[in-house]
Amino acid sequence: MGRIRILPDQVANKIAAGEVVERPASVVKELLENSLDAGSSSVRIEVESGGRRLIRIVDDGCGMLRDDALLAFERHATSKLRDVKDLLSIATLGFRGEALPSIASVSRLLLETRSAEETTGTRIEIAGGKMLRCEEAALGGGTCITVRDLFYNVPARRKFLRTEPTELAHIASLVTHYSLAHPEKTFHLTSGPNELLHVTPVETMKERVYQVFGSQILDDLVEIGTRERELLLPPASVPASQAIAESRQEPDDPPTRTFRLNGFFSRPQVQKANRNSIYIFINGRLIRDRLLMHALSSAYHNLMPHSAYPFALLFLECDAEEVDVNVHPSKTEVRFRHGSFIHDFVRDTIRERLMESRPAPSFSPGHRSAPVAQPGAQLPYSEFSQMIENQPAGEFTDLPVAAAKAPDPALPEFALRPTALPALRLDFTAPAIEVAPGPPPSGKLMRHLDAHGEFPPEAIPPPEMSLSALSDLRPLGQIHESFIIAAGRDGLWIIDQHVAHERILFEQVMKQRAAGRVEMQRLLMPMILQLTPEQQIDYARIADELHASGFETEPFGNRTIAVKAAPAAVGAADLERVLFEILEIAEGELRGASLDELRRNICASIACRAAIKINMRLDTAKMEWLLRTLALTDCPMSCPHGRPIAMHYPTREILKAFHRI
Ligand code: ADP
Ligand code: MG
Repeated sequence: MGRIRILPDQVANKIAAGEVVERPASVVKELLENSLDAGSSSVRIEVESGGRRLIRIVDDGCGMLRDDALLAFERHATSKLRDVKDLLSIATLGFRGEALPSIASVSRLLLETRSAEETTGTRIEIAGGKMLRCEEAALGGGTCITVRDLFYNVPARRKFLRTEPTELAHIASLVTHYSLAHPEKTFHLTSGPNELLHVTPVETMKERVYQVFGSQILDDLVEIGTRERELLLPPASVPASQAIAESRQEPDDPPTRTFRLNGFFSRPQVQKANRNSIYIFINGRLIRDRLLMHALSSAYHNLMPHSAYPFALLFLECDAEEVDVNVHPSKTEVRFRHGSFIHDFVRDTIRERLMESRPAPSFSPGHRSAPVAQPGAQLPYSEFSQMIENQPAGEFTDLPVAAAKAPDPALPEFALRPTALPALRLDFTAPAIEVAPGPPPSGKLMRHLDAHGEFPPEAIPPPEMSLSALSDLRPLGQIHESFIIAAGRDGLWIIDQHVAHERILFEQVMKQRAAGRVEMQRLLMPMILQLTPEQQIDYARIADELHASGFETEPFGNRTIAVKAAPAAVGAADLERVLFEILEIAEGELRGASLDELRRNICASIACRAAIKINMRLDTAKMEWLLRTLALTDCPMSCPHGRPIAMHYPTREILKAFHRI
């Protein structure tokens, strides 16, 4: 990491100024970032009283030489930045040289550190910014920093702290999420006698998610895998610092930048009331960023209600030059050089993965009842997202993980319990389920078969969670003439007939709209609609879009319009309601929305009105058609308003419910 020096004034002046240490979690964040910058493979964090009484961070990183340890407490002393040009390409988490002096000035701090280059270590004690002691000490490699009595000498700041559990939750959330970004490292967080998080090195991010949140949350998530997109840099936007490097390149080989996205996001049915479960890292740095939040919500557009948020862990990587980290004192805000490119990359990648993976919601008895997440991951609260939301304190009870929202009260009340199943004929025809008559192939399969027969565990297909399975479902009938029950290769499916049809029509209308040929149907008699002054304004604004969506309308006297033709999908009886609904969209939340959003919402309205309703009997052929056509849609997961379409009850769960495994 190099030696520590004090930044020259012209560099120090360019660094975003502001308060570094606001609360115990900011102390933990700064110290943890230092440990990660120091190349540690293991970090232990101990706190007491939510970090007010004690924060201790022990790492096995490079440690500090004695002279450096003393210098580290000077303002703007850092080993991570040399000159102004370095500010354009920060690859470390820290660079301001402000954390240690700031923390030391508001606490009683003990630093113990030893660099591999020295045979003895250094112990330095500081209280309220005053050096009390500096001595040689026999120490192991790495660094241990103990911060006691935070804000003991600044009572005004102490008053702004929240309750101990809240401060602790901030810390737990922070450490948990840093641990997700570094699966190859050990993290250990304790609060007094309680262990909140303990994770040991694993190879993949997926294994780390499993360690931290448990398998049940993992089931709700879609893994992105590593996705890349290249940006061709137009010569004019190359920063000055790149000019030299660029001049060495072939003229016909314009410089490119590669952006990489990795991580996890939840299937559309996991709907959170706030953004507390969204974590975005850029080059290993936990940030809050409206642009990327927006990219994420747009990916879920027409798959999730506007007011709901997903769970997401996004890890973005790009050249350090692409992101300016020097815009905020706590380094959690950044500025992108090519913001709209990153925005579209994130939105498209998540959308594509959603369409590829088609995650199906499943009924699993007790699925939500026993989270096996580590305690630290279950503590509510996230400092970063809270700062975006500026939510009232009452929001803190929302758990940062899973726990899908209660079902929409507007839906007919309906519940499927395992005990209700015996009446149904289940399809267990998958060949693997046969009980082999001969001796079992291996000793571990020697299990007693009782009179009821038993399924060898390997005979049960792995949970098939993808909605691609929809294409070979066999409809068995309807419940309440509203929900189609179907048997599949892996278990039982329940499909909401209205929203299924709505999704089919929505995509159909969107495609016709994009191709500029929405099927229209001329009305025998024009329909005359009376508008309010407000609706008249909205009508004028969206008249072209209406026309392109298949509505032929024209002004007809004072605040009246004549509808001469309508999309073929909409029946005459529904026409008036569809049109007023569309005007309502235009007037409501979407007044400032983009044309694309307006278009999607118009198509959603048409689809909703035209779709088969609930409480409608369907014959087998119609049900088969519906399932087959749904399987062909891009997003069979949820309807354009965000309701789930199909639920899956996996064979494994059915077998469990009948005590067959
Ligand atoms: P910054 O991280 O912005 O450089 P800090 O005030 O956080 O500033 O730390 C000052 C310097 O102290 C760092 O640049 C680094 O060289 C050194 N340092 C701090 N913590 C550690 C640590 N855990 N291990 C090794 N060096 C450290
Ligand atoms: Mg630092």
